[in-house]
Amino acid sequence: MIYNFQILRYFSNIGKKTPKICIVGAGAAGFYCAQHFVKRIKDIQVSIFEKLPVPFGLVRFGVAPDHPEVKNVISKFFLTAEHPNVEFKGNISIGKDVSISDLTEAYDYVLLAYGANFNRKLDIPGENLPNVIPARRIVGWYNGLPEEAGLKIDFSSEKVAIIGQGNVAIDVARILLKPVDDLKETDITQHALESLMSSKIKEVHLIGRRGPLQAAFTIKELREMLKLKGCGTYWNENDFVGVESVLPSLERPRKRLTDLMLQSIKVQREQYSEKKFFPVFYKSPLEINVLNNSIRKTITLGINRLEKTDKGDTTISLTNTREMLQSDLIVTSIGYKAVTIDSSLPFDNKKGTVINQNGKIDNRLYAAGWVATGPTGVILSTMTNAFNTAEVICKEIEKNKTVWDKPGYESIRNKLNKANIQVVTWADWLKIDDYEKKAGQRCRKPREKIIDYEKMLEVAANK
Ligand SMILES: Cc1cc2nc3c(=O)[nH]c(=O)nc-3n(C[C@H](O)[C@H](O)[C@H](O)COP(=O)(O)OP(=O)(O)OC[C@H]3O[C@@H](n4cnc5c(N)ncnc54)[C@H](O)[C@@H]3O)c2cc1C
Repeated sequence: MIYNFQILRYFSNIGKKTPKICIVGAGAAGFYCAQHFVKRIKDIQVSIFEKLPVPFGLVRFGVAPDHPEVKNVISKFFLTAEHPNVEFKGNISIGKDVSISDLTEAYDYVLLAYGANFNRKLDIPGENLPNVIPARRIVGWYNGLPEEAGLKIDFSSEKVAIIGQGNVAIDVARILLKPVDDLKETDITQHALESLMSSKIKEVHLIGRRGPLQAAFTIKELREMLKLKGCGTYWNENDFVGVESVLPSLERPRKRLTDLMLQSIKVQREQYSEKKFFPVFYKSPLEINVLNNSIRKTITLGINRLEKTDKGDTTISLTNTREMLQSDLIVTSIGYKAVTIDSSLPFDNKKGTVINQNGKIDNRLYAAGWVATGPTGVILSTMTNAFNTAEVICKEIEKNKTVWDKPGYESIRNKLNKANIQVVTWADWLKIDDYEKKAGQRCRKPREKIIDYEKMLEVAANK
């Protein structure tokens, strides 16, 4: 039954001269673009190329396991992938197995939606010490990203410092402080669950350069921390001097977030909990040192002062005051970035985005999602960006009087066959999906993710 859509696709496309588009990356942006193409243009063929044997990008490998409602978007992606004019081709790394020029030769339009899958570095001494780990790696580890399956994290001491205060930093803090029983029935990987069961962590310090009025986390994420079972949130009241007086002048979302922080300060005076969450403001990490050749580490923190610029914005300046924080596990969470996948692409290495104007890179070459915008926003904003860019392409297609005789996937298939690359189709992914769900049923989880490339490919190849 599950192969019906493939047969439908085969017959519906025979001999047709239709515009052919390929999308690089099967994350949220890739799927939302594909959805828009097939909704807007009846006769179109869309190929989605994905580096991994499995689809959904950060919706699978980023979104926290205890946020299953966020992953509901996947059901919409299924409908798109099963549309007769869309084909999924996994386990193909563009830039390595196939070049961008191969794609521009084979397709009428090429849309890059390959995300921002690298972490930004702090560039401070000690950043490469053992147990100083980018949040991106920890997130990949608990979410089953194959390249992080072997990550070793030492949870044997009580204190963790997370550098950065965005929602990814909060996700990591929450997973480390949450009672393991509350994670057991999520799709967290078994290896992460087992490590967390023996974790000794009791304190997480969330370190930000700026003040409470500039906090990067959002209200939903903070609320979750405030409600976390067995864990209290503790603020430094000195960080909030003058904050209450500016509250009425703030815009609504910022006002609500700030008000929640102020309310929670009042609660902290009366609470005692075994686990503690400390949001720390106005501090910049300058150096990480290891103590006596052991796992013990200290972070030297520079104290910042907030200043107003001539334009009226706020900026921080580092004072001469220093503070030491002892912490054996240090997580760096200062953002994601994209890297170029092909030397022919115009790329802004500083911003970590492909250079584009409202999604357009060049003639017939476009970008959407985090590779185009940078790693900000949520799935909803990625969706809006993807729809906008896809619409620009749809308008071009409508104006274009070309004969649409590009070969599409046929010519790419020849290249992949010669290189002996196992292509994972949507039907193959459904086998992986089924395997993971059955493995999950045995331990009352929605799925137990396969964490090994070879195993993914083996299951995909099963008859
Ligand atoms: C840790 C974390 C937690 C998040 N939690 C939430 C949340 O709770 N709620 C929310 O709304 N948003 C959340 N977000 C944001 C959300 O995940 C993003 O908005 C969205 O995933 C961006 O989509 P994208 O398609 O641009 O990138 P991605 O999702 O990264 O997709 C890019 C895809 O391209 C593939 N790819 C990469 N290189 C190549 C290549 N060379 N060839 C072929 N394919 C390639 C990747 O494997 C990936 O599948 C979170 C983000 C992170 C990092």
